Amino acid sequence: MASAFTHLFVAAALGKAVSPEKMPLRFWTLGLFCSLLPDLDVITFRLGIPYRHMLGHRGFSHSLPFALIVSLLVALLAFRKVPRFSGKWWVLAGYFFGVTASHGVLDAMTSGGYGIAFFSPFDNTRYFLPWRPLVVSPIGVYGFFSRWGFEVILSELLWIWMPALLLLGMLILYRRKLRRRPVP
Ligand SMILES: [Zn+2]
Repeated sequence: MASAFTHLFVAAALGKAVSPEKMPLRFWTLGLFCSLLPDLDVITFRLGIPYRHMLGHRGFSHSLPFALIVSLLVALLAFRKVPRFSGKWWVLAGYFFGVTASHGVLDAMTSGGYGIAFFSPFDNTRYFLPWRPLVVSPIGVYGFFSRWGFEVILSELLWIWMPALLLLGMLILYRRKLRRRPVP
C-alpha cells in the first residue's frame, strides 16, 4: 500500500475538488472510509488466502468493478435525499468511485508487493503502473518509525501531496475568480 495518510489525503483533496459548496459530514467521513476500504483485504492473510488469490491482498477489493459497486451503493444508500441519477447524484457517485479507485492506483505506483487486480473478477492479472515512484509502505505501525517509513513519506510528499496541492490551489483560485467576475 501507499501510506494510509496519503490515501486519506487524496480522498480529502478529491472531495474539495468536486464540491465547491459545503458538504455534509457524511460526505467526508464516507470519502475517507472508501479511500482505506480496499485494504480491509489484509484480513485474508489471517484467513490463509494467498496474496495472489482473487480475494487476496490487492485483489478484488482494489479493482475498478469493486469501486463501481461501492460508489453506487454509497450514493444510493447514504444520499437518499439527492434525486437518484440526477447530475448531483452522478457527481457523488463519481466522487466515491474516484476515491475508492484511487486506492488501487496509488498502490500500483508503489515499488513493492504484487500488482493490483484492476479488472477482477473478470481478469485477475495483477498490474503496476509503468511509473512507480512511491516507496511501498510497511503494513502496520511499527515499520513506520524507521528509515523505511521516512522514505515512504518523502516519496509521497514529493509525488502526490505537492502536485495535488498545487492543482487544488489553482482550481480554488480559478473558482474564486469566476465568482468575482462582475455580471455583465
Ligand atoms: Zn492497498
